[in-house]
Amino acid sequence: MISRNACAISTARSSPLSTHTTIRIGGPAEVLAFPRDADEVALLVRDCAERGVPWRVLGRGSNLLVADAGVPGVTIHTRDLRSIRFGDGGLVVAGAGLRTSTLHAEAMKRGLGGLECVVGYPATVGGSARMNAGGRWGETGARIEWVAAVDATGEVRTLPRDACNFGYRTSALAGLAVVEVAFRLPEVDLPAYRAAIDAIHAEKSRAQPLAEPSAGCMFRNPPGNSAGRLVDACGLKGRAVGGAMVSTVHGNFVVNRGGATCDDVLRLVDAVRDEVRRRTGVELETEVEVWGAEHVPAHG
Ligand SMILES: Cc1cc2nc3c(=O)[nH]c(=O)nc-3n(C[C@H](O)[C@H](O)[C@H](O)COP(=O)(O)OP(=O)(O)OC[C@H]3O[C@@H](n4cnc5c(N)ncnc54)[C@H](O)[C@@H]3O)c2cc1C
Repeated sequence: MISRNACAISTARSSPLSTHTTIRIGGPAEVLAFPRDADEVALLVRDCAERGVPWRVLGRGSNLLVADAGVPGVTIHTRDLRSIRFGDGGLVVAGAGLRTSTLHAEAMKRGLGGLECVVGYPATVGGSARMNAGGRWGETGARIEWVAAVDATGEVRTLPRDACNFGYRTSALAGLAVVEVAFRLPEVDLPAYRAAIDAIHAEKSRAQPLAEPSAGCMFRNPPGNSAGRLVDACGLKGRAVGGAMVSTVHGNFVVNRGGATCDDVLRLVDAVRDEVRRRTGVELETEVEVWGAEHVPAHG
């Protein structure tokens, strides 16, 4: 599967990805690799490219739904890319696998803020950049100065912010392996900033099912509309298939109430999408990325 050089990198065969995704669903990765630096990521990608082996990058698995049968090829887990260094003028350079909560806490220790956009959900720096994660309180891309990423040929490239094409939950980082992200953060008045962060946490705890396993918002918001409100208006909160249920707290969250399979979630997603289309004419698109299951099965 991977060459002797790349095998020096820590890997685990047949690791269930359910232990690496927040919705706790997913079969084994054929190979799960834990590179320790950008060179090891590049080595893995080059090796896969030469052998025609598929590869993908896993952060905290908080925006993923992985097939019950698992995924072929090499899954690059960024857990060990956790560096962080501070420069002048609010520059912070973080490894792709660093948790955004750690980035935020370390920034605040130095009087820096501007990361309201990463508050209240699990993510890595790399996953957040790739997804341009955020919402009402801003988006990650707005704080990014440059991104270092391994491209499909195994070369490390530095992309200035403008080359990242940050949009609504999209970026040009898809298909790359982000290894480092440079943020430019403003100095803040810490007491006021902490109060604002606490208010965001409180608001999210009230409005979202944070204690239950989920992958966050299942659907993208249609232009000028809210997917959660549409699902709610169609009376779909509490709708369940197997162990998967539309949260009773927030219509755009599908929660794993115990033993849910990927297939359960896909059938539920399909049913919700059909009902919303039938009743409102709006076609919902999934925001959560599905690995290893290409076709949404017919429900029923
Ligand atoms: C309770 C909850 C609340 C959430 N709330 C929000 C919210 O308010 N706003 C929001 O935007 N999202 C939210 N999410 C979704 C999710 O947390 C974000 O999309 C997050 O940024 C994903 O980061 P991750 O590290 O978990 O990425 P993963 O889920 O591991 O991966 C997501 C995508 O990013 C890619 N990726 C990951 N790391 C890298 C890398 N180093 N290089 C290249 N590609 C990479 C993966 O291949 C995949 O395509 C929520 C999720 C949960 C569970």
